[in-house]
Amino acid sequence: AITIEKIEKTFGATPVLRDVSLKIADGEFLTLLGPSGCGKSTLLRILAGLEVQTGGSISIGDRVVDGVRPKRRDVAMVFQSYALYPHMTVAQNMALPLRMRRLSAWQRLSMVGGLLPGTKPVSAEIELDVMRTAKALGIGHLLARKPGQLSGGQRQRVAVGRAMVREPAVFLMDEPLSNLDAKLRVQMRAEIKELHNRLGVTFVYVTHDQSEAMTMSDRVAVMLDGELLQVAPPQEIYDDPDDRRVAEFIGSPK
Ligand code: ATP
Ligand code: MG
Repeated sequence: AITIEKIEKTFGATPVLRDVSLKIADGEFLTLLGPSGCGKSTLLRILAGLEVQTGGSISIGDRVVDGVRPKRRDVAMVFQSYALYPHMTVAQNMALPLRMRRLSAWQRLSMVGGLLPGTKPVSAEIELDVMRTAKALGIGHLLARKPGQLSGGQRQRVAVGRAMVREPAVFLMDEPLSNLDAKLRVQMRAEIKELHNRLGVTFVYVTHDQSEAMTMSDRVAVMLDGELLQVAPPQEIYDDPDDRRVAEFIGSPK
């Protein structure tokens, strides 16, 4: 399980997260839903270890991860913007987390320059993992291209694939579909759900899109102004909102 306990975050004097507590079960698909600026990405970045909370504590599994660096948490993050390396091919982008993990600290240090194309080839074993994942995502034929030569949806798959090859215990996804057209968004929803079912690992998914949250999630955590207002299965949030602000945001009849 992931245990989020009384997380506070301020940037300067501005509070962005207030007393956020939440327990996410192993294998659960939990969605953080809320309007732009409510603090979703900040909370996800704190879970990933990319941002440090000003108060409170996070455990992943039975381990308190406060102060633990991102690479040492068993999580993979798909970012709001794809954050692919433009100078690398799809294969190199996807192989990156594997290459980083399988190298010693010393090797990592000495090969930072080696990540540039034309230098070290991707090892055969890693190549196989990448190929398998790419095929599963329908981008097997694109491995030699660079991100600039892909459509938005294809780039999105590469970003998901790069997270997948790490086989993490937890997937953190920050509005992974926000740049896609409506049709592709619906298709990718199903694909991400399929991925969740297949892998059975924990997903923490961020969106401001209600229908996405309602169709994909085991539970939805409704967030507003840095606070969690209600955490419940989608139907319950819709039928029985805790609070007028939840009802307004969801547009439920109550
Ligand atoms: P969106 O749906 O637009 O991505 P969000 O819910 O992900 O929004 P956050 O990115 O978590 O929102 O930001 C929450 C608040 O914190 C915003 O008001 C934002 O301006 C502020 N904020 C985020 N990062 C920083 C930072 N590094 N310094 C100062 N303020 C920040
Ligand atoms: Mg965000």
